[in-house]
Amino acid sequence: MSEHHTAIIVGGGPAGLALAVVLGGWHPFYRGSRVFGERYPQLAELLAPHRGTLLGLDFGRLARSGVAPADLFRLLHHPRQKFEELAQVAMEFREEEPIDYLLLSQEPVGGLWNKAPRNLLTLSPGQWMEFAFYPLAQYAEEEGLDLDVNELICKTDLIRYYHRVPGRFGQEERLRLGEQVTRIEPHERGFRVISTELDTGQSREYTCKYLIYAAGQRCQLRRLGVEGEDLPLVSNQYDHPQDYPGHRVMVVGGGRSADWAATELHDAGRQVWYVMRQSRDLHWQLIGDSRHGLPYYARLAQILESGSPRLEALYRTRVKRIGRDGRVWLMAGGEERVVQVDHVVKEIGGTADYSLFSGFPNALQLEEKYDNYRFQVHQVRTHPHNYESIDIPNLYPGGYLAAGIGLVVIAMHGTTYAIAGDILQKEGRL
Ligand SMILES: Cc1cc2nc3c(=O)[nH]c(=O)nc-3n(C[C@H](O)[C@H](O)[C@H](O)COP(=O)(O)OP(=O)(O)OC[C@H]3O[C@@H](n4cnc5c(N)ncnc54)[C@H](O)[C@@H]3O)c2cc1C
Repeated sequence: MSEHHTAIIVGGGPAGLALAVVLGGWHPFYRGSRVFGERYPQLAELLAPHRGTLLGLDFGRLARSGVAPADLFRLLHHPRQKFEELAQVAMEFREEEPIDYLLLSQEPVGGLWNKAPRNLLTLSPGQWMEFAFYPLAQYAEEEGLDLDVNELICKTDLIRYYHRVPGRFGQEERLRLGEQVTRIEPHERGFRVISTELDTGQSREYTCKYLIYAAGQRCQLRRLGVEGEDLPLVSNQYDHPQDYPGHRVMVVGGGRSADWAATELHDAGRQVWYVMRQSRDLHWQLIGDSRHGLPYYARLAQILESGSPRLEALYRTRVKRIGRDGRVWLMAGGEERVVQVDHVVKEIGGTADYSLFSGFPNALQLEEKYDNYRFQVHQVRTHPHNYESIDIPNLYPGGYLAAGIGLVVIAMHGTTYAIAGDILQKEGRL
């Protein structure tokens, strides 16, 4: 027997969680703010007469006049980059009737932040990672926490904030966590969604009219494709130095996550080989771009510039094979080198997974997107006003999976409101 819902959200990361709360009835209303009015007088004038929820805006008209809905909500939420007071947010949220939705996610809410290294600092100030309906400053006040929301936020604090959201907004009953979606097919009622309960291995079946696919940009971790990759001495993701009791650690990667791991392991006293396929120039471009804004990049630059004997950066180098005894065979410039280690940490990123979709008349059209921060993802081609797939009606890629959305943006859940608004408008609920 399948269970029907009006909407199903796949993925409980920041993107899916924001949609859950808004579909769960927490709607934005324009209230204006001094700074919003001063900086965006035309938008303030446009929105001032709008009495109903902002989900009822004519998003098509807005997009045609050159205002992307995600940008509009970003500006309402963050009319300036620095947070000074709650009153600067130019919209407020009121609880209205929810829509019948269900969120399925294989992890707890908060998405990839559950498994991010425990000490990792974000790239952006804490308040850029918050939801508009629950400013971090409000959360800190309610919970009695001492948080500077304009500073980078540490993973542990950030995930605690995300975990607080379902209870704070009364959405727990609509979340099914620990469930992995394995297939999404067309169905006469819209979509058929097949999942597996990870605890019991039991299969479940759902149908829905609207599907929000917010599975994130790294649901499939990349593989090196070499012998020995699955040995116990190889970790797929880095968390903390204490997970690696041995002295010699090889970090394979070259992006931000690998940079973090190499730096923290070095500073924990380990001997680190940092193996990258990229050139030295490319790596130093990222370090150079980041060292003045991010303290951990300043530290990495210092370690490398000082020529620390405990961190060897191996550029344009590939792992060829990993042995049971900890020997790793490397290739660089046609030369083979063997290094003896106790652990290998792979931080080579992941990809978005669209292989779950099958049987639809049109295949999803994807566009490759990458940015200076080393984020890359294949995004789904969508209509610019509602972020609905061009190829599969009523399918909405959440978060960074919609084409045209920057990969590290202030208020990463910007598409939430146009998606929720589109669904509510189609349902005649506004
Ligand atoms: C190390 C790192 C640091 C980052 N730092 C920043 C930052 O500082 N600022 C910023 O703006 N962005 C940053 N990002 C970008 C990051 O993608 C976002 O912060 C954010 O987590 C994206 O949210 P999301 O909900 O789209 O995806 P995710 O957080 O990836 O959440 C998706 C969820 O869906 C689940 N899922 C996937 N497939 C299925 C399935 N088949 N069935 C059920 N559940 C499924 C996943 O397990 C996951 O829990 C960073 C990314 C990484 C990797």
